[in-house]
Amino acid sequence: MTLLFPVVGYYYGNLSYYQCSKCGTVVKSEQMPSTYGCPARGSHQWHKLGRVGDKNYMCRKCGTLLECDSYPSTYGCPASGSHQWHQLGKVGNSVYQCRKCGVFVNNERTPSTYGCPQGGSHQWHKLTR
Ligand SMILES: [Zn+2]
Ligand SMILES: [Zn+2]
Ligand SMILES: [Zn+2]
Repeated sequence: MTLLFPVVGYYYGNLSYYQCSKCGTVVKSEQMPSTYGCPARGSHQWHKLGRVGDKNYMCRKCGTLLECDSYPSTYGCPASGSHQWHQLGKVGNSVYQCRKCGVFVNNERTPSTYGCPQGGSHQWHKLTR
């Protein structure tokens, strides 16, 4: 092995997603963010969800959308209990919006319809050419 860093980690600058399970705030950071000043109450309770990457994942319970390199951690869903992640597809230059939950996704092609937070399936509409 001659590579010092995995290619994906190098490209994305080793950024990871952190989410507070109390207020739901998502932060991209190289290290655990400050716990000071959670809008919910007291201190943020950060959970590391995964490394920033090239696949879209959405939790059907809290509606959080992440661009991660692999299946994110299920720990600390702000809605309650564990996240239920669904992979929507590969990150791309087309923008899609679900007319049920209202989320915007930058995806390579029509995202997976599975796991809409509003219940049942996403109904995607392409907003870009
Ligand atoms: Zn918080
Ligand atoms: Zn969740
Ligand atoms: Zn939806």
